[in-house]
Parts: sequence; structure tokens; C-alpha cells
Amino acid sequence: MRLYDTLSRSLVELPPPPGPIRMYFCGPTVYARAHIGNARPFVVGMWLRSWLRSRGYDAQLVHNITDINDKIYDAAPSASAHLAAEATEWYFEDTGDLGLGMPDYLPKATESVPQIVAFIEELIARGNAYESVGDVYFSVDSYPEYGQLSRRKSDQVEQGEEPSSLKRDSRDFALWKANKPATEDTWWDSPWGRGRPGWHIECSVMAEEIYGPAFEIHGGGLDLVFPHHENEVAQSRALGHPFASIWTHNGMLQFTGDKMSKSAGNVTTIRDAIDKWGRETILVFFLTASWRKPIDFSDETMLQAASQWAGLQGAFRVAKAEPGPAEWTRFEKALDDDFNTPDALAVLHDWRSRGYWGLLDKGLRIFGLELPTMAGTGIEAERLRDDRDAARNAKDWAKADELRDAIRKMGYDVVDESSGSRLVPL
Ligand SMILES: [Zn+2]
Repeated sequence: MRLYDTLSRSLVELPPPPGPIRMYFCGPTVYARAHIGNARPFVVGMWLRSWLRSRGYDAQLVHNITDINDKIYDAAPSASAHLAAEATEWYFEDTGDLGLGMPDYLPKATESVPQIVAFIEELIARGNAYESVGDVYFSVDSYPEYGQLSRRKSDQVEQGEEPSSLKRDSRDFALWKANKPATEDTWWDSPWGRGRPGWHIECSVMAEEIYGPAFEIHGGGLDLVFPHHENEVAQSRALGHPFASIWTHNGMLQFTGDKMSKSAGNVTTIRDAIDKWGRETILVFFLTASWRKPIDFSDETMLQAASQWAGLQGAFRVAKAEPGPAEWTRFEKALDDDFNTPDALAVLHDWRSRGYWGLLDKGLRIFGLELPTMAGTGIEAERLRDDRDAARNAKDWAKADELRDAIRKMGYDVVDESSGSRLVPL
């Protein structure tokens, strides 16, 4: 199997099964119900794990919770810890309701502070970081490979942090920030005084706490390449740790027109989307685009996904002979080639049209979907056949024709015989 790697800008072959394939996908900052855009890295990570496991890999996924952040302090003055804990539960509920299971590890920044402090101390000891009035900064100049992931030149480095006279170089970024009592109601003790970790160091430390200094895949949204992931690479590799070997960045959700604006009261959160569309439609929606490409989220695209899902389920299924193993290979080829879900989805539709229900169900299950039980839909078609018999007995020919059309849409025709009617596959 191969995947596109941002670091080398190329498709990279994974080691053969069983691997291991250890994946770390950046998770949400918890201060509100998560936006539907946050669902994509979660879904891509869970699907990749599911696919790799089906291919015989020992695959694991870490998805971190950023529960120390300015956004949380801003959203809940003097109650930030309470909001972060509550929003973490919301995130678990909402992503849990996508029906994909949960990642193997969900570490929280607040539970990793001693390890973060130790990591920063090592960076200082090696000359890659320095303390400045209670803050600690990473020295970009001390790491000559800086910019390798985002391919930025050193004069294009803007950390997006507030300018600070405490930095030796404007390109440096914060590893530790001294507590600001007026606005920050949580803090931890450190060799540099009370404070809290910066965002980037959290991920370097949480990934290495679980996997050690080297692992296979680091994922997240394309918006995280710089500065977040560039800084993670710098922190870890400055200490001589190989860190992630493959970097997978998913494309962003795009919102067309003003249809999705919050003021219009339309869907913006994962919770809203599940309530409005159902989890299956959301999953089919994500299948329609390559994980690397942007994807348009709108009422229109969600209606199209809903219609695809209705089509895939079929209304009534006739058990036809299942095909040989070559059919499943088509599906494997699509997913093994940079996890091409649009091609895999086309194979699923093809199986549906051929009546390969067993194979279709097996393929859908990779993505957390499954066909409704065959018994239920079979009963529905039989019920329509009974209704049609009744209409014919009442000489209501128009209604009988209408019911026959409905039965045909379920993949069956009705044959009238002297002994009564029966269903035959179309
Ligand atoms: Zn991260």
C-alpha cells in the first residue's frame, strides 16, 4: 500500500504487513462543539486504521485532545478547565456517534505536562531552546533543517504568535508560556515558574510518550503543515529523534456560498450534521472525495451523498452468485493506491448494480457502514406483492401497475401464474 507523504512530496510505499503502522492524528482544541471540518481527520484516521487492519497490519491510532489553549481561556474566563472537560466529552460523544469506534489512545495535554517539561529541559540542555523571563522558546536558528516539511525559506517564517521582545529571533516559537494571571486560570509548576506548555510541544511529547521516538504516520488537516507540524518536526528531530516517517495531510472542508454561515442557522457542527443527515450520509459524503483534496460541504452535496447511500442499500436484494476473489482485488487496488475512496465507492456502486450483496456489505464495513438486514427489505417487497394481488382482485389495474413498478425498483419482477403471483429476480 502507498500513501502520499507531505515531507517527500511523493507517494511512499508502506512496509509490508504486519507493520506495525503507528499513526498519530492531531485532534481538536476543546472549547465548543466540534465543527464538521474536525470530523475529517478523525474519519480519515479511523478508516485508515480499519483498512490497514483488514490488510493484516498491526495498526494503531493516537488522536490527541488539546485541552490547554488560548481559545479555551478566551471562551471560559475563570472556568477554562471545566469547559475543556465538557467539550472533550462532547467530542467523544459526537465522533462516537459516527459509528467508527474510537482511536486506541486519546491523550490530553493536561495529563502530559511533566513529560512536556522534561522534553523542554532536554531542548534547553542541547542548546535548541532558551528561557526568557518565564517563557521558553525554541531557537529556529539552532536547527538548520527548519522548514523541511512546509518547504519555507527562513525569511518566510511567521509563527502566528504575538510579537514578543522576549524572543531572540522573531522566527522562534513558544515551548512554555509564563502564566498570565489576569486571563489564564490554569497553570503548572516548572523550572521556569508557573506557566503552561505551547501547543506544538504537546504533540511532539504525546506522540513520543505513546510510540517512542519513531513512528510511521503523522496526520492532520492541511492547515497544520505550518507552523504546527513544522515545529513538531523541529522539536523532535533537534533531539535526534526520527519522529514520523510519513506525513498525511487531509484536504479541508469548503463551504460554498453563504449557505453554511452560522447566522443562517445552518449546519456547522458534527452534532448538527449527524442530527440533520445521519451518520451514514456523512460517511458517504467523505468517501466521495480523495482524502487529500478539498471537499465542498453544502446542502446540495449532502443531498447527493444521501441519495448515493439510498442507492447503495438497494430496496430489495436478490442473492446472486457471489463472484470470485478478483472482484475484491479491485477494491483493494483502489484503497492501496493512496487510499482512493472515490474509486472504492465506484466499485461499491458496481457491486450493488450486479447484486454482489455479500461483497458490498464487506466493503461498506471497512468504512463503518453496513447494509440493513436482508430479511427486513425482503418482507417489504413481499408486502407490496400482496398489495398488488389485492389491487388486481379489486380490478384496480392502475394501482396494480404502480405497485409492480415499485417492486421492479427493488430489483424484482412479478410473475402471475394460475397458482398465484411470485417474485423473480430482474
Ligand atoms: Zn498536533
